[in-house]
Amino acid sequence: MSTNERQSTKEAERKVNRTTNDKNPCPKYDRKSSVAAEFINHDEILQTLEFGKDKSKDKKFLNEILEKAREGKGLDHREAYTLLASDDEDINKEIFKLANELKLKNYGNRIVLFAPLYLSNYCINGCVYCPYHGQNKTITRKKLTQEEIKEEVIALQDMGHKRLALETGEDPVNNPIEYVLESIKTIYSIHHKNGDIRRVNVNIAATTVENYKKLKDAGIGTYILFQETYHKDNYEMLHPTGPKHDWAYHTEAMDRAMEAGIDDVGCGVLFGLNNYEYDFIGLLMHAEHLEARFGVGPHTISVPRIRPADDIDPDDFDNSIDDEIFSKIIALIRISAPYTGMIMSTREGQSMREKALKIGISQISGGSRTSVGGYVEEETEDENSAQFETEDKRTLDEVVNWLLENKYIPSFCTACYREGRTGDRFMTLVKAGQISNVCHPNALMTLQEYLNDYASEDTVKKGMALIEQEVENIKSEKVTELTKKYLEEIRNGNRDFRF
Ligand code: SF4
Ligand code: SF4
Repeated sequence: MSTNERQSTKEAERKVNRTTNDKNPCPKYDRKSSVAAEFINHDEILQTLEFGKDKSKDKKFLNEILEKAREGKGLDHREAYTLLASDDEDINKEIFKLANELKLKNYGNRIVLFAPLYLSNYCINGCVYCPYHGQNKTITRKKLTQEEIKEEVIALQDMGHKRLALETGEDPVNNPIEYVLESIKTIYSIHHKNGDIRRVNVNIAATTVENYKKLKDAGIGTYILFQETYHKDNYEMLHPTGPKHDWAYHTEAMDRAMEAGIDDVGCGVLFGLNNYEYDFIGLLMHAEHLEARFGVGPHTISVPRIRPADDIDPDDFDNSIDDEIFSKIIALIRISAPYTGMIMSTREGQSMREKALKIGISQISGGSRTSVGGYVEEETEDENSAQFETEDKRTLDEVVNWLLENKYIPSFCTACYREGRTGDRFMTLVKAGQISNVCHPNALMTLQEYLNDYASEDTVKKGMALIEQEVENIKSEKVTELTKKYLEEIRNGNRDFRF
Protein backbone atom coordinates (compact mmCIF):
# COMPACT_ATOMS: atom_id res chain seq x y z
CA MET A 1 0.00 0.00 0.00
CA SER A 2 1.48 3.40 -0.96
CA THR A 3 1.83 6.17 1.60
CA ASN A 4 -0.98 8.08 -0.08
CA GLU A 5 -3.27 5.04 0.00
CA ARG A 6 -2.42 4.47 3.66
CA GLN A 7 -3.27 8.09 4.43
CA SER A 8 -6.57 7.87 2.55
CA THR A 9 -7.46 4.73 4.52
CA LYS A 10 -6.52 6.41 7.77
CA GLU A 11 -8.63 9.45 6.90
CA ALA A 12 -11.56 7.21 5.93
CA GLU A 13 -11.25 5.34 9.24
CA ARG A 14 -11.25 8.60 11.13
CA LYS A 15 -14.30 9.76 9.24
CA VAL A 16 -16.12 6.62 10.34
CA ASN A 17 -14.98 7.25 13.92
CA ARG A 18 -16.15 10.82 13.70
CA THR A 19 -19.54 9.74 12.47
CA THR A 20 -19.71 7.21 15.26
CA ASN A 21 -18.89 9.94 17.72
CA ASP A 22 -21.44 12.28 16.22
CA LYS A 23 -24.03 9.57 16.90
CA ASN A 24 -22.61 8.95 20.33
CA PRO A 25 -23.77 11.85 22.49
CA CYS A 26 -21.10 11.14 25.11
CA PRO A 27 -17.66 10.76 23.54
CA LYS A 28 -15.00 10.31 26.24
CA TYR A 29 -12.22 12.79 26.84
CA ASP A 30 -8.95 11.49 25.46
CA ARG A 31 -6.21 14.00 24.78
CA LYS A 32 -4.30 11.51 22.63
CA SER A 33 -7.26 10.64 20.42
CA SER A 34 -7.30 11.70 16.78
CA VAL A 35 -11.04 12.37 16.99
CA ALA A 36 -12.01 16.00 17.57
CA ALA A 37 -14.97 15.27 19.88
CA GLU A 38 -12.61 13.29 22.13
CA PHE A 39 -9.62 15.65 22.39
CA ILE A 40 -11.83 18.77 22.45
CA ASN A 41 -14.36 17.07 24.64
CA HIS A 42 -17.46 19.14 25.42
CA ASP A 43 -18.11 17.41 28.76
CA GLU A 44 -14.52 17.90 29.86
CA ILE A 45 -14.85 21.62 29.10
CA LEU A 46 -18.12 21.83 31.05
CA GLN A 47 -16.55 19.96 33.97
CA THR A 48 -13.52 22.25 33.85
CA LEU A 49 -15.83 25.29 34.02
CA GLU A 50 -17.53 23.81 37.05
CA PHE A 51 -14.27 22.72 38.68
CA GLY A 52 -12.59 26.11 38.11
CA LYS A 53 -15.52 28.16 39.39
CA ASP A 54 -15.75 25.97 42.45
CA LYS A 55 -12.02 26.18 43.22
CA SER A 56 -11.59 29.84 42.26
CA LYS A 57 -12.19 30.99 45.86
CA ASP A 58 -9.71 28.52 47.34
CA LYS A 59 -6.68 30.77 47.79
CA LYS A 60 -4.44 27.96 48.96
CA PHE A 61 -5.16 26.01 45.78
CA LEU A 62 -4.69 29.11 43.62
CA ASN A 63 -1.31 29.75 45.20
CA GLU A 64 -0.33 26.13 44.62
CA ILE A 65 -1.13 26.54 40.91
CA LEU A 66 0.95 29.70 40.77
CA GLU A 67 3.80 27.90 42.51
CA LYS A 68 3.68 25.23 39.82
CA ALA A 69 3.55 27.88 37.07
CA ARG A 70 6.64 29.51 38.54
CA GLU A 71 8.64 26.40 37.60
CA GLY A 72 8.06 27.43 33.98
CA LYS A 73 6.79 24.09 32.80
CA GLY A 74 3.25 25.24 32.07
CA LEU A 75 -0.21 24.52 33.44
CA ASP A 76 -2.98 22.24 32.29
CA HIS A 77 -6.37 23.56 31.19
CA ARG A 78 -8.04 22.95 34.56
CA GLU A 79 -5.36 24.80 36.49
CA ALA A 80 -5.24 27.65 33.99
CA TYR A 81 -9.01 28.05 33.96
CA THR A 82 -9.18 28.10 37.77
CA LEU A 83 -6.85 31.10 37.69
CA LEU A 84 -8.96 32.72 34.97
CA ALA A 85 -12.09 32.25 37.07
CA SER A 86 -10.54 33.85 40.15
CA ASP A 87 -11.32 37.49 40.88
CA ASP A 88 -8.85 37.73 43.73
CA GLU A 89 -6.77 40.88 43.23
CA ASP A 90 -3.56 39.45 44.74
CA ILE A 91 -3.81 36.38 42.54
CA ASN A 92 -4.42 38.50 39.45
CA LYS A 93 -1.41 40.69 40.23
CA GLU A 94 0.71 37.59 40.63
CA ILE A 95 -0.51 36.18 37.28
CA PHE A 96 0.61 39.31 35.42
CA LYS A 97 3.91 39.47 37.31
CA LEU A 98 4.67 35.85 36.53
CA ALA A 99 3.67 36.20 32.86
CA ASN A 100 6.09 39.11 32.57
CA GLU A 101 8.88 37.12 34.25
CA LEU A 102 8.39 34.06 32.04
CA LYS A 103 8.15 36.22 28.93
CA LEU A 104 11.47 37.86 29.80
CA LYS A 105 13.10 34.58 30.73
CA ASN A 106 12.12 32.74 27.54
CA TYR A 107 11.96 35.55 24.99
CA GLY A 108 14.08 38.34 26.46
CA ASN A 109 13.27 41.74 24.96
CA ARG A 110 13.05 40.52 21.35
CA ILE A 111 9.91 40.98 19.27
CA VAL A 112 9.64 39.24 15.92
CA LEU A 113 7.95 41.19 13.12
CA PHE A 114 5.88 39.94 10.20
CA ALA A 115 3.21 41.08 7.74
CA PRO A 116 0.11 39.39 6.32
CA LEU A 117 -0.21 39.08 2.55
CA TYR A 118 -3.74 38.64 1.23
CA LEU A 119 -3.74 36.70 -2.05
CA SER A 120 -7.45 36.37 -2.73
CA ASN A 121 -10.72 37.10 -0.96
CA TYR A 122 -12.85 34.69 -2.98
CA CYS A 123 -14.48 32.33 -0.51
CA ILE A 124 -17.29 29.79 -0.63
CA ASN A 125 -17.77 29.57 3.13
CA GLY A 126 -20.49 31.34 5.05
CA CYS A 127 -18.64 32.49 8.19
CA VAL A 128 -21.02 35.09 9.60
CA TYR A 129 -18.25 37.20 11.19
CA CYS A 130 -16.05 37.55 8.08
CA PRO A 131 -16.77 39.91 5.17
CA TYR A 132 -15.27 37.39 2.71
CA HIS A 133 -18.25 35.07 3.26
CA GLY A 134 -19.69 33.85 -0.04
CA GLN A 135 -23.05 35.60 0.38
CA ASN A 136 -21.51 39.08 0.74
CA LYS A 137 -22.34 40.84 -2.51
CA THR A 138 -21.01 44.28 -1.51
CA ILE A 139 -17.35 43.40 -1.02
CA THR A 140 -14.89 43.91 -3.89
CA ARG A 141 -13.61 40.46 -4.90
CA LYS A 142 -9.96 40.32 -5.91
CA LYS A 143 -7.37 37.66 -6.62
CA LEU A 144 -3.74 38.56 -7.24
CA THR A 145 -2.00 37.32 -10.38
CA GLN A 146 1.61 36.09 -10.01
CA GLU A 147 2.75 39.42 -11.46
CA GLU A 148 0.69 41.30 -8.85
CA ILE A 149 2.08 39.06 -6.09
CA LYS A 150 5.55 39.98 -7.28
CA GLU A 151 4.70 43.68 -6.94
CA GLU A 152 3.20 43.20 -3.48
CA VAL A 153 6.28 41.28 -2.35
CA ILE A 154 8.61 43.98 -3.67
CA ALA A 155 6.55 46.55 -1.74
CA LEU A 156 6.84 44.39 1.40
CA GLN A 157 10.58 43.87 0.90
CA ASP A 158 11.00 47.63 0.44
CA MET A 159 9.36 48.12 3.83
CA GLY A 160 11.90 45.69 5.34
CA HIS A 161 9.80 42.58 5.89
CA LYS A 162 11.40 39.12 5.81
CA ARG A 163 8.52 37.01 7.18
CA LEU A 164 5.00 36.82 5.72
CA ALA A 165 1.73 35.17 6.63
CA LEU A 166 -0.21 34.24 3.48
CA GLU A 167 -3.98 34.62 3.70
CA THR A 168 -6.61 33.45 1.29
CA GLY A 169 -10.29 32.49 1.34
CA GLU A 170 -11.43 28.92 0.61
CA ASP A 171 -12.46 28.50 -2.98
CA PRO A 172 -11.38 25.41 -4.93
CA VAL A 173 -12.05 27.13 -8.26
CA ASN A 174 -10.43 30.52 -7.64
CA ASN A 175 -7.83 29.58 -5.02
CA PRO A 176 -6.94 25.90 -5.58
CA ILE A 177 -3.89 24.50 -3.79
CA GLU A 178 -1.90 24.86 -7.04
CA TYR A 179 -2.48 28.62 -6.91
CA VAL A 180 -1.20 28.78 -3.32
CA LEU A 181 1.86 26.66 -4.19
CA GLU A 182 2.69 28.76 -7.23
CA SER A 183 2.33 31.92 -5.16
CA ILE A 184 4.74 30.60 -2.50
CA LYS A 185 7.27 29.82 -5.23
CA THR A 186 6.88 33.32 -6.64
CA ILE A 187 7.34 34.91 -3.21
CA TYR A 188 10.54 32.99 -2.42
CA SER A 189 11.96 33.76 -5.88
CA ILE A 190 11.90 37.56 -5.52
CA HIS A 191 15.05 39.34 -4.38
CA HIS A 192 14.61 43.05 -4.79
CA LYS A 193 17.70 45.12 -3.91
CA ASN A 194 18.82 43.59 -0.57
CA GLY A 195 15.34 42.23 0.14
CA ASP A 196 14.11 38.68 0.39
CA ILE A 197 11.24 36.89 2.07
CA ARG A 198 12.84 34.16 4.15
CA ARG A 199 9.82 32.55 5.77
CA VAL A 200 6.31 32.18 4.37
CA ASN A 201 3.74 31.10 6.94
CA VAL A 202 0.44 29.98 5.49
CA ASN A 203 -3.08 30.55 6.75
CA ILE A 204 -5.42 28.66 4.44
CA ALA A 205 -8.53 26.57 5.03
CA ALA A 206 -8.38 23.10 6.56
CA THR A 207 -7.32 20.65 3.88
CA THR A 208 -6.16 17.09 3.22
CA VAL A 209 -2.95 15.36 4.30
CA GLU A 210 -1.96 15.27 0.65
CA ASN A 211 -2.28 19.07 0.31
CA TYR A 212 -0.44 19.65 3.57
CA LYS A 213 2.41 17.56 2.16
CA LYS A 214 2.46 19.81 -0.87
CA LEU A 215 2.67 22.87 1.38
CA LYS A 216 5.51 21.30 3.32
CA ASP A 217 7.37 20.53 0.09
CA ALA A 218 6.85 24.15 -0.99
CA GLY A 219 8.85 25.19 2.09
CA ILE A 220 6.26 26.86 4.28
CA GLY A 221 7.15 27.95 7.79
CA THR A 222 4.16 27.61 10.11
CA TYR A 223 0.73 26.37 9.05
CA ILE A 224 -1.74 28.65 10.79
CA LEU A 225 -5.43 27.93 11.23
CA PHE A 226 -7.71 29.60 13.72
CA GLN A 227 -10.34 27.43 15.28
CA GLU A 228 -12.63 30.50 15.62
CA THR A 229 -14.52 28.72 18.41
CA TYR A 230 -14.19 25.26 19.94
CA HIS A 231 -17.89 25.10 20.81
CA LYS A 232 -19.30 22.68 18.23
CA ASP A 233 -22.93 23.87 18.18
CA ASN A 234 -22.00 27.55 18.07
CA TYR A 235 -19.30 26.80 15.51
CA GLU A 236 -21.89 25.22 13.25
CA MET A 237 -24.21 28.23 13.66
CA LEU A 238 -21.38 30.66 12.90
CA HIS A 239 -20.40 28.61 9.83
CA PRO A 240 -23.78 27.75 8.34
CA THR A 241 -22.58 26.90 4.82
CA GLY A 242 -19.52 25.67 2.96
CA PRO A 243 -16.88 23.05 3.82
CA LYS A 244 -15.88 24.95 6.94
CA HIS A 245 -19.23 23.97 8.49
CA ASP A 246 -17.66 20.59 9.39
CA TRP A 247 -16.41 21.23 12.94
CA ALA A 248 -14.56 17.92 13.25
CA TYR A 249 -12.75 18.29 9.93
CA HIS A 250 -11.68 21.81 10.89
CA THR A 251 -10.68 20.84 14.44
CA GLU A 252 -8.59 17.88 13.21
CA ALA A 253 -6.75 20.00 10.61
CA MET A 254 -3.61 20.41 12.74
CA ASP A 255 -3.43 16.65 13.16
CA ARG A 256 -3.50 16.18 9.41
CA ALA A 257 -0.88 18.92 8.94
CA MET A 258 1.39 17.19 11.45
CA GLU A 259 0.77 13.78 9.90
CA ALA A 260 1.90 15.35 6.64
CA GLY A 261 5.17 16.35 8.28
CA ILE A 262 4.49 20.02 8.99
CA ASP A 263 6.25 20.47 12.34
CA ASP A 264 5.15 23.98 13.15
CA VAL A 265 1.45 24.75 13.46
CA GLY A 266 -0.22 27.89 14.78
CA CYS A 267 -3.51 27.81 16.72
CA GLY A 268 -5.89 30.56 17.80
CA VAL A 269 -9.51 31.43 18.46
CA LEU A 270 -11.37 34.56 17.43
CA PHE A 271 -12.25 36.09 20.78
CA GLY A 272 -15.67 37.69 20.79
CA LEU A 273 -17.44 34.98 18.81
CA ASN A 274 -18.27 32.65 21.65
CA ASN A 275 -17.97 32.50 25.44
CA TYR A 276 -14.30 33.28 26.12
CA GLU A 277 -14.00 30.87 29.03
CA TYR A 278 -15.10 27.94 26.90
CA ASP A 279 -12.67 28.86 24.12
CA PHE A 280 -9.80 29.53 26.49
CA ILE A 281 -10.15 25.98 27.84
CA GLY A 282 -10.57 24.55 24.32
CA LEU A 283 -7.45 26.32 23.10
CA LEU A 284 -5.32 24.86 25.90
CA MET A 285 -6.84 21.41 25.38
CA HIS A 286 -5.90 21.64 21.71
CA ALA A 287 -2.31 22.48 22.63
CA GLU A 288 -2.22 19.61 25.14
CA HIS A 289 -3.60 17.26 22.51
CA LEU A 290 -0.89 18.13 19.95
CA GLU A 291 1.79 17.71 22.58
CA ALA A 292 0.33 14.36 23.71
CA ARG A 293 -0.17 12.98 20.21
CA PHE A 294 2.84 14.37 18.35
CA GLY A 295 5.27 15.22 21.16
CA VAL A 296 5.21 18.90 20.26
CA GLY A 297 2.59 21.54 20.96
CA PRO A 298 1.66 24.45 18.70
CA HIS A 299 4.55 26.63 17.54
CA THR A 300 2.41 29.73 18.00
CA ILE A 301 -0.88 30.80 19.52
CA SER A 302 -2.64 33.88 18.12
CA VAL A 303 -5.12 35.99 20.03
CA PRO A 304 -7.31 37.84 17.51
CA ARG A 305 -10.39 39.76 18.71
CA ILE A 306 -13.30 40.45 16.40
CA ARG A 307 -13.09 43.79 14.49
CA PRO A 308 -15.46 45.85 12.32
CA ALA A 309 -15.44 45.13 8.56
CA ASP A 310 -17.66 45.41 5.49
CA ASP A 311 -20.99 43.74 6.38
CA ILE A 312 -19.73 42.97 9.89
CA ASP A 313 -20.57 44.77 13.12
CA PRO A 314 -18.79 43.39 16.20
CA ASP A 315 -21.80 44.47 18.30
CA ASP A 316 -23.78 41.71 16.58
CA PHE A 317 -21.71 39.29 18.65
CA ASP A 318 -22.46 39.58 22.33
CA ASN A 319 -19.39 37.73 23.58
CA SER A 320 -16.94 40.60 23.22
CA ILE A 321 -14.28 40.86 25.91
CA ASP A 322 -12.80 44.00 27.41
CA ASP A 323 -9.08 44.78 27.61
CA GLU A 324 -8.86 43.57 31.20
CA ILE A 325 -10.12 40.04 30.51
CA PHE A 326 -8.22 39.96 27.24
CA SER A 327 -4.97 40.82 29.05
CA LYS A 328 -5.60 38.14 31.64
CA ILE A 329 -6.17 35.57 28.89
CA ILE A 330 -2.86 36.55 27.26
CA ALA A 331 -1.00 36.35 30.56
CA LEU A 332 -2.52 32.96 31.35
CA ILE A 333 -1.68 31.51 27.94
CA ARG A 334 1.89 32.71 28.50
CA ILE A 335 2.22 30.93 31.83
CA SER A 336 0.33 27.83 30.63
CA ALA A 337 2.41 27.40 27.45
CA PRO A 338 5.65 29.23 28.28
CA TYR A 339 7.51 28.01 25.18
CA THR A 340 4.86 28.80 22.60
CA GLY A 341 5.27 31.95 20.52
CA MET A 342 2.32 34.32 20.91
CA ILE A 343 1.10 36.53 18.08
CA MET A 344 -0.87 39.77 18.07
CA SER A 345 -1.91 41.45 14.83
CA THR A 346 -2.74 45.05 13.93
CA ARG A 347 -6.34 44.28 14.90
CA GLU A 348 -5.19 45.73 18.23
CA GLY A 349 -4.07 49.32 18.75
CA GLN A 350 -0.82 50.65 20.18
CA SER A 351 -1.81 50.73 23.85
CA MET A 352 -3.18 47.17 23.91
CA ARG A 353 -0.11 45.95 22.05
CA GLU A 354 2.18 47.74 24.49
CA LYS A 355 0.51 46.00 27.40
CA ALA A 356 0.44 42.62 25.63
CA LEU A 357 4.16 42.69 24.83
CA LYS A 358 4.93 42.83 28.55
CA ILE A 359 2.82 39.83 29.46
CA GLY A 360 3.29 37.36 26.65
CA ILE A 361 3.22 38.46 23.03
CA SER A 362 6.44 37.61 21.17
CA GLN A 363 5.45 38.36 17.56
CA ILE A 364 3.54 41.28 16.06
CA SER A 365 2.66 42.40 12.57
CA GLY A 366 3.66 45.87 11.41
CA GLY A 367 2.56 48.14 8.57
CA SER A 368 -0.14 45.59 7.68
CA ARG A 369 -2.68 45.95 4.89
CA THR A 370 -5.61 43.58 5.18
CA SER A 371 -6.93 44.17 1.67
CA VAL A 372 -5.98 42.20 -1.45
CA GLY A 373 -3.22 44.13 -3.25
CA GLY A 374 -3.10 46.76 -0.49
CA TYR A 375 0.68 47.12 -0.25
CA VAL A 376 1.05 48.41 -3.82
CA GLU A 377 -2.06 50.50 -3.83
CA GLU A 378 -4.25 51.62 -0.97
CA GLU A 379 -7.91 51.04 -1.67
CA THR A 380 -10.13 53.90 -2.83
CA GLU A 381 -13.36 54.65 -0.97
CA ASP A 382 -15.31 52.66 -3.57
CA GLU A 383 -13.28 49.53 -2.96
CA ASN A 384 -13.41 47.31 0.08
CA SER A 385 -11.56 44.04 -0.17
CA ALA A 386 -10.23 44.11 3.42
CA GLN A 387 -10.93 41.31 5.88
CA PHE A 388 -11.05 43.65 8.87
CA GLU A 389 -10.20 47.19 9.86
CA THR A 390 -6.76 47.53 11.41
CA GLU A 391 -6.50 49.46 14.66
CA ASP A 392 -2.75 49.96 14.50
CA LYS A 393 -2.20 51.91 11.29
CA ARG A 394 1.45 52.84 11.83
CA THR A 395 4.10 52.14 9.21
CA LEU A 396 6.64 49.39 9.84
CA ASP A 397 9.30 52.03 10.52
CA GLU A 398 7.05 53.67 13.12
CA VAL A 399 6.46 50.30 14.78
CA VAL A 400 10.20 49.52 14.79
CA ASN A 401 10.92 52.97 16.21
CA TRP A 402 8.31 52.52 18.93
CA LEU A 403 9.73 49.11 19.87
CA LEU A 404 13.21 50.59 20.14
CA GLU A 405 11.90 53.42 22.27
CA ASN A 406 10.39 50.83 24.60
CA LYS A 407 13.74 48.97 24.76
CA TYR A 408 12.62 45.99 22.71
CA ILE A 409 14.79 44.52 19.95
CA PRO A 410 12.73 44.41 16.74
CA SER A 411 13.72 41.13 15.10
CA PHE A 412 13.35 40.01 11.49
CA CYS A 413 14.90 36.65 12.30
CA THR A 414 13.81 33.54 10.39
CA ALA A 415 16.87 31.43 11.24
CA CYS A 416 15.28 28.37 12.88
CA TYR A 417 13.17 27.41 9.93
CA ARG A 418 16.10 27.85 7.56
CA GLU A 419 18.42 25.84 9.83
CA GLY A 420 15.87 23.04 10.10
CA ARG A 421 15.15 23.85 13.75
CA THR A 422 11.44 23.06 13.62
CA GLY A 423 9.02 21.00 15.72
CA ASP A 424 10.67 19.01 18.51
CA ARG A 425 14.21 20.09 17.42
CA PHE A 426 13.12 23.65 18.08
CA MET A 427 11.32 22.84 21.33
CA THR A 428 14.30 20.89 22.72
CA LEU A 429 16.48 23.94 22.24
CA VAL A 430 13.89 26.23 23.79
CA LYS A 431 13.26 23.98 26.77
CA ALA A 432 16.99 23.67 27.41
CA GLY A 433 17.12 27.48 27.64
CA GLN A 434 19.53 27.57 24.69
CA ILE A 435 17.38 29.40 22.19
CA SER A 436 18.30 32.84 23.55
CA ASN A 437 21.91 32.23 22.51
CA VAL A 438 20.76 32.18 18.91
CA CYS A 439 17.69 34.46 19.02
CA HIS A 440 19.53 37.36 20.57
CA PRO A 441 22.41 37.67 18.07
CA ASN A 442 20.06 36.87 15.18
CA ALA A 443 17.72 39.64 16.29
CA LEU A 444 20.60 42.12 16.39
CA MET A 445 21.91 41.10 12.98
CA THR A 446 18.52 41.27 11.27
CA LEU A 447 17.87 44.62 12.94
CA GLN A 448 21.19 45.84 11.57
CA GLU A 449 20.08 44.76 8.08
CA TYR A 450 16.86 46.69 8.55
CA LEU A 451 18.70 49.81 9.74
CA ASN A 452 21.07 49.73 6.79
CA ASP A 453 18.44 49.12 4.13
CA TYR A 454 15.08 50.58 5.18
CA ALA A 455 15.04 52.64 8.38
CA SER A 456 14.45 56.37 8.83
CA GLU A 457 17.23 58.49 10.29
CA ASP A 458 15.74 58.54 13.79
CA THR A 459 15.19 54.77 13.78
CA VAL A 460 18.81 54.24 12.68
CA LYS A 461 20.03 56.38 15.58
CA LYS A 462 17.96 54.51 18.16
CA GLY A 463 18.69 51.12 16.60
CA MET A 464 22.46 51.57 16.49
CA ALA A 465 22.50 52.63 20.14
CA LEU A 466 20.47 49.56 21.13
CA ILE A 467 22.65 47.16 19.13
CA GLU A 468 25.79 48.53 20.75
CA GLN A 469 24.29 47.96 24.17
CA GLU A 470 22.66 44.60 23.49
CA VAL A 471 25.61 42.96 21.76
CA GLU A 472 27.30 42.91 25.17
CA ASN A 473 24.37 40.95 26.61
CA ILE A 474 25.06 37.84 24.49
CA LYS A 475 25.98 35.10 26.94
CA SER A 476 28.72 33.29 25.03
CA GLU A 477 31.98 35.15 24.45
CA LYS A 478 32.60 33.34 21.20
CA VAL A 479 29.13 34.22 19.86
CA THR A 480 29.64 37.84 20.92
CA GLU A 481 32.85 38.08 18.90
CA LEU A 482 31.27 36.42 15.87
CA THR A 483 28.20 38.66 16.11
CA LYS A 484 30.38 41.77 16.19
CA LYS A 485 32.20 40.51 13.10
CA TYR A 486 28.93 39.77 11.26
CA LEU A 487 27.45 43.15 12.26
CA GLU A 488 30.46 44.81 10.69
CA GLU A 489 30.03 42.71 7.55
CA ILE A 490 26.38 43.76 7.33
CA ARG A 491 27.38 47.42 7.67
CA ASN A 492 29.76 46.77 4.78
CA GLY A 493 26.94 45.52 2.57
CA ASN A 494 26.90 41.73 3.16
CA ARG A 495 23.64 40.06 4.22
CA ASP A 496 21.97 36.98 5.72
CA PHE A 497 24.21 35.88 8.59
CA ARG A 498 22.62 33.66 11.21
CA PHE A 499 23.19 31.30 14.09
FE1 SF4 B 1 -13.72 32.52 4.12
FE2 SF4 B 1 -11.93 32.39 6.11
FE3 SF4 B 1 -13.54 34.49 5.89
FE4 SF4 B 1 -14.56 32.17 6.60
S1 SF4 B 1 -13.05 33.35 7.79
S2 SF4 B 1 -15.45 33.57 5.08
S3 SF4 B 1 -13.28 30.76 5.44
S4 SF4 B 1 -11.98 33.87 4.45
FE1 SF4 C 1 12.68 32.64 16.11
FE2 SF4 C 1 14.62 30.85 15.86
FE3 SF4 C 1 15.06 33.34 15.13
FE4 SF4 C 1 14.86 32.71 17.68
S1 SF4 C 1 16.47 32.03 16.29
S2 SF4 C 1 13.87 34.43 16.67
S3 SF4 C 1 13.29 31.13 17.64
S4 SF4 C 1 13.59 31.97 14.20
